[in-house]
Amino acid sequence: MSVSILHVVATPIGNLGDLSPRALDTLRSVAAICAEDTRHTRQLLKHHGIDTPLLALHQHNEDEMAGRLVARMQAGESLALVSDAGTPLVSDPGFRLVRAARAAGIKVSPVPGPCAFVAALSVAGLPSDRIAFEGFLPARAAARRERLALLASEQRTLAFYEASHRIEETLADMRDVFGAQRQAVIARELTKLFETVLDGTLAELCERVAADPDQRKGEFVVLVQGAGEDADARIAEGRRLYAKLGEHLPPSTAAKLAAELSGAPRKALYGSSEERE
Ligand code: SAM
Repeated sequence: MSVSILHVVATPIGNLGDLSPRALDTLRSVAAICAEDTRHTRQLLKHHGIDTPLLALHQHNEDEMAGRLVARMQAGESLALVSDAGTPLVSDPGFRLVRAARAAGIKVSPVPGPCAFVAALSVAGLPSDRIAFEGFLPARAAARRERLALLASEQRTLAFYEASHRIEETLADMRDVFGAQRQAVIARELTKLFETVLDGTLAELCERVAADPDQRKGEFVVLVQGAGEDADARIAEGRRLYAKLGEHLPPSTAAKLAAELSGAPRKALYGSSEERE
């Protein structure tokens, strides 16, 4: 068993003051810091007067680097792992290095700190006892909607990361798949100058983001309240109404009415019939 340690160190998600004293001590004391983007981390280290050597560890070289880094630790060096922002391994590289270090019997120790979805959850006012962290949704629209459909009856609060250029379409997909009335929170630019935390139904949030270009800038966490325990019953009732109303009305009108009357998301009704909009 080696005496060296791989320290997994969380760094700020915006406000540089959020780097903990223990994180600073650790980054000063290790032989080298493995960083996702060395230029980015160099700025952070410079701000704190730290000159520990940096090594690039990103998704394209992690497999190859992991073995070499483990060998250095087996030879007695302690290392730190950081990502560009927040907690490494949370929608960030590091999993392979951590797994390789543990497999080699090297101690892996966390220096906990900022994490965007945890920070968002802490201010959202949504149920926080059970949460499903989904990270980034697929970039392609069809795959994204498919993933959302799989989550439509999930009862835990859902947490997503999203980029500014997709926030509007992702919110619209969530509204269509989860239902316009589902409660959600958009946490934008947390700990930064233009931090905003918006809450409301998915329909309201879509409108607010569409109406204000500033609300489409920066970094986002989207939290969506889980489906109620009666979600399956509402969908069953919605499908029953859709089938009945569809005998007399055009499909789009029948779906709109059935969704309104049952409280089920409109998209969830279509599986019940051959007819589609
Ligand atoms: N490892 C990071 C963590 O612990 O949260 C997440 C890294 S992931 C590559 C980056 C995404 O996290 C951004 O696209 C955004 O969705 C979210 N994020 C990071 N910083 C944020 C902030 N200050 N406010 C809101 N979301 C943020």
